[in-house]
Amino acid sequence: MDLGIAGKVALVTAASKGLGRATAMALAGEGVKLAICARGEDALRATEAELSQLTDVLAIVADVTEPAAPAALVAQAVERFGALDILVANAGGPPPARSLDLDDQAIWDGLNLSFVSSARLVREAIPHMRARGWGRVCLLTSSSIKQPIPTLSMSNAARTGLWAWAKTAATDVFEDGITINTVCPGLHDTDRIKQLSLGEGVPVGDPADFGKVVAFVCSKPAAFMSGAAILLDGARYAGLF
Ligand code: NAP
Repeated sequence: MDLGIAGKVALVTAASKGLGRATAMALAGEGVKLAICARGEDALRATEAELSQLTDVLAIVADVTEPAAPAALVAQAVERFGALDILVANAGGPPPARSLDLDDQAIWDGLNLSFVSSARLVREAIPHMRARGWGRVCLLTSSSIKQPIPTLSMSNAARTGLWAWAKTAATDVFEDGITINTVCPGLHDTDRIKQLSLGEGVPVGDPADFGKVVAFVCSKPAAFMSGAAILLDGARYAGLF
């Protein structure tokens, strides 16, 4: 299938490893020009080198939780490529903690990481998409927005808040040709899942497959898909809706 996005420009944050990296690779495979970021330079440069075999790439060392980072990332992508058509907002996940073990600082930090950083990115990206009458925003969240994970209480809380915020934004921008969706991973084979020991003895998804689904969500024919939360969890969620 032709996704119709060759030549478009995407910003994929937190993209040196794992699901962000797989998404960047899938978009690069479709001929999308890419701006990517992460905090650690070594892995970022390694991913930049792989992506640059497929497309034009700008790799920026940045921490998305820094208040000024989202605006700077969008500005640098637009300065380099002259446009921003696709935003995939991703960040690392919050540390494990049950709800009643969270102190105020852990709550604020989790909100900053998993809600505020993505909201800032969306706010900064939308004017560039509106200017061209086309845009795709995909928020990488978690299956925890459907089925809370008891030991990842800030993932449950902050990502659900982000998605509620984004649902409203989706209605505000649809007539400008912009879609906003979230893709919600269940367990996928990445460093984070290994560090949390969550994928032992259960089926886990392939990040490369995940990235291709995100690329479809960001595609031309996905024009009428907006405000959707797409669960990629190998049928683990037990509810019907
Ligand atoms: P991962 O393999 O650990 O990769 C995380 C990536 O994000 C790395 O490139 C990391 O690079 C970057 N990163 C982390 N914090 C950052 C920050 N503050 N600013 C910029 N870049 C940052 O993780 P993953 O499994 O791909 O997970 C990605 C997201 O999906 C996380 O929010 C995670 O909680 C969520 N998720 C994952 C799964 C899963 O099964 N894998 C399931 C549900 C939800 P640096 O450390 O160098 O910055």
